[in-house]
Amino acid sequence: MRLSEYDVNNPYLTTLVSSERITPLGWEAEVRHLVLRLPDIAFQYVEGQSIGVLAPGPHEFGATHHLRLYSIASPRGGDDGRGDTISICVRRCFSIDDISGERYPGRASHFLCDANPGDIVPITGPYGVQFEVPPREDANLLMVGAGTGIAPFRAFVKHIYQRHGAWKGKVRLFYGAKSGVEMLYMNDFRKDLALYYEQSSFRAFEAISPRPHYDAPPEIDRAVLDNAHEIWEMIQDPNTYVYVAGLMEADKKFELAMEKLAGSKDAWLDLKASIAADQRYAELLYD
Ligand SMILES: Cc1cc2nc3c(=O)[nH]c(=O)nc-3n(C[C@H](O)[C@H](O)[C@H](O)COP(=O)(O)OP(=O)(O)OC[C@H]3O[C@@H](n4cnc5c(N)ncnc54)[C@H](O)[C@@H]3O)c2cc1C
Repeated sequence: MRLSEYDVNNPYLTTLVSSERITPLGWEAEVRHLVLRLPDIAFQYVEGQSIGVLAPGPHEFGATHHLRLYSIASPRGGDDGRGDTISICVRRCFSIDDISGERYPGRASHFLCDANPGDIVPITGPYGVQFEVPPREDANLLMVGAGTGIAPFRAFVKHIYQRHGAWKGKVRLFYGAKSGVEMLYMNDFRKDLALYYEQSSFRAFEAISPRPHYDAPPEIDRAVLDNAHEIWEMIQDPNTYVYVAGLMEADKKFELAMEKLAGSKDAWLDLKASIAADQRYAELLYD
């Protein structure tokens, strides 16, 4: 669905509770964990969904708002479990003019990253399909993502271990970032996901960019191929669920690795289609 087709007529006016920078100060990438208080409990959401944020105008061509989507980073019930908040993970974005080289601030991400506690943040949604918790606790979960694509996995992993305690199946997270300090929720700033390292079923694999200053995508493919045996075994198991989130360029790397494991692009696409037909493959991807 195109952004222009989303219904933005009755936004929920949330209030910013907190905004915490989760990448180092002075570091090029600014990513923030934002907690928003919902105006009422009518707004219900689940892991894997996104919200729309309406950055107030005026904008170009007389637009009164600027809509952008953000993946939900908290489990249903919110970070504190009280049911009246929602969290998102936002990267401050810029666009570069191809001709002049001038840098323009991204409107929604700057609105969010500049907001102060107490400010109103109009949201819509929630949108998209949820990351279903498999019916069996011995199901395997394969999660692949990069950058802010970690947001739905933070929500999902928290939900699984909070609700089910020790999950019996394998939980594997392949997560890519430009550098170690950009390992969101697994760095010195926030360790939300690192907390689950002590769970015997959970393992996270880091994929770092080979040339971070040239915007090379993280080497998700290498991380997957380094663990080829286990991944191939998991992917063929009808008790495995696959979730992919974040920037499409990282997904492309994952697809490449899977094509190698499957032997050809067609073989992987066939296998992927059969997993999807079985409701065991979910994607939340963006440019
Ligand atoms: C389903 C979905 C879920 C999303 N979830 C998240 C999320 O959890 N966190 C998040 O930060 N963003 C997320 N995004 C991206 C987000 O919606 C915006 O596109 C992004 O914040 C830029 O919007 P803006 O208004 O600030 O920039 P605009 O004023 O619209 O300018 C866009 C410019 O920013 C660049 N840009 C857009 N997205 C990114 C990015 N992620 N990284 C680097 N540069 C970018 C583009 O190249 C473009 O030049 C998601 C997008 C989709 C479709």
